[in-house]
Amino acid sequence: MNALNTAAHGDSAPLRFRSLGGWVERPGDLQPALKGHEHADVIVIGAGFAGLSTALELKALGADVIVLEQEFAGFGASGRNAGYLLGSMGIECEVFVNRVGVEQARQFVRFYDEAVNYVEGRLTTLGIDCDYTPSGVIRAAVHPGQEKRLRKNMELGQTLGSVTRFVDRAQMRARGIPPAFLFGTEQRGGTLNPGKYVSGLRRAAIEAGVKLYERTPLLSFSEGQVITCKTAHGRASAPAMVLATNAYTPQLGVLRNKVAAIRVSAIETQPLSTEQLAALGWKGREGIITPHYTMESHRLTAHGTLVLTVKQLGYAYGSKTPNIPDHGAYAALAQVLRERFPALQGLGIQHCWSGYVSGAYDFLPVVGAMGAKQNIFYTTGCSGHGLATQSLMGSLFAGQINGKAPELLAALQHRTPSMLPEPFQWCAIQSAFAAAKLLDAWTDRKVRKDNAMKD
Ligand SMILES: Cc1cc2nc3c(=O)[nH]c(=O)nc-3n(C[C@H](O)[C@H](O)[C@H](O)COP(=O)(O)OP(=O)(O)OC[C@H]3O[C@@H](n4cnc5c(N)ncnc54)[C@H](O)[C@@H]3O)c2cc1C
Repeated sequence: MNALNTAAHGDSAPLRFRSLGGWVERPGDLQPALKGHEHADVIVIGAGFAGLSTALELKALGADVIVLEQEFAGFGASGRNAGYLLGSMGIECEVFVNRVGVEQARQFVRFYDEAVNYVEGRLTTLGIDCDYTPSGVIRAAVHPGQEKRLRKNMELGQTLGSVTRFVDRAQMRARGIPPAFLFGTEQRGGTLNPGKYVSGLRRAAIEAGVKLYERTPLLSFSEGQVITCKTAHGRASAPAMVLATNAYTPQLGVLRNKVAAIRVSAIETQPLSTEQLAALGWKGREGIITPHYTMESHRLTAHGTLVLTVKQLGYAYGSKTPNIPDHGAYAALAQVLRERFPALQGLGIQHCWSGYVSGAYDFLPVVGAMGAKQNIFYTTGCSGHGLATQSLMGSLFAGQINGKAPELLAALQHRTPSMLPEPFQWCAIQSAFAAAKLLDAWTDRKVRKDNAMKD
């Protein structure tokens, strides 16, 4: 944990960078690294929502499962996200329809929405207490000019089967939602503590008898009827493997031309005082996201802090994933905190962190099987909305490996566009980020101007 130069966010208290994110610590019962040669029915690489859910579902079907995790379960995005359990409202329906047509877009909407039910069910079945608040999530405008885009996405979503409703200004105020958020579209779901969720999955997997090897990066693997995975001190082999390495997948030399690793950042405030919480209203604690091109997310936590994420994304050349601070993103989020919550002036920022998600050019999930024997399964590319979907993938993969071929998994198959080689990819992604930033800055300037006129 490092103290950052505070000049960047204009706050007087030191802003701490947490290299593991704001929700998890290295577990006290770190599982041993793989040594020697182990055999199993399935090897899962990566212990986030996808890897742990897959291992648990396979174990329930009686399979012998090995999980190899380079650090510890929850080290990746699963331990660093904002904790929104959100379905199809989080996606840009228009992009999906343009890419795969109405019929298949309906299946993607179903995939995102069923995933919310799946996670809610798993929290109960596995007895995971992760402060889940089924408050609903609102995609809320900060300027009237965002209404057209909001409504358009909602209406298209509804034709695809997404259950979303419009919340007008009067309803927003009646519910005590902070006044910066004018009106919005709402969907069921809510917020949870992702650290507690992923740690709960980890505990359940260990108790179920999944062989979890932590501090065990996969170094290489061989394809064939039997797949052999090489690690620093051992080998594991199995007739099937699941790559649940998400944004880290391109570094394995896999899917490099299909997904890019995108850095997403977060800040967490000091706990709000009882008076600040009361003044804020926001009794329903709805998770809020905005319809900016690079969205903002705003939520209260069960421990009384505010967590804000995104606003500015990052991309490191070659889809690298350095675990380093992103000062520019934290400064942008600190400014957003001051502007959206003027009543909380002086509220300190406790710490900040970043993590990596993966994205394809068409923003669609990248799910499938590869290898000469089609026995290497992968799931990546859920952009910034993988809490629910990557969990559901565990159930779909377990069905597939068990010979059941779930129809929802088949419905997700489509052609992912190829990415550009470097340095063109770096240029293309930076240009897309810059364009989104310009459009969002224009909206935010209009918000400031309107507010100045009110004062
Ligand atoms: C700041 C932030 C906010 C977000 N907010 C939300 C949100 O509110 N809602 C939402 O739905 N989504 C959100 N997301 C996205 C969500 O967190 C991800 O989509 C999801 O966690 C992906 O889960 P996963 O299991 O596929 O990948 P990960 O959690 O990234 O797991 C991959 C694992 O693979 C391991 N690994 C990598 N390489 C190797 C190797 N060679 N050998 C062994 N192990 C390896 C990694 O250490 C890691 O633990 C957010 C992401 C970030 C970063």
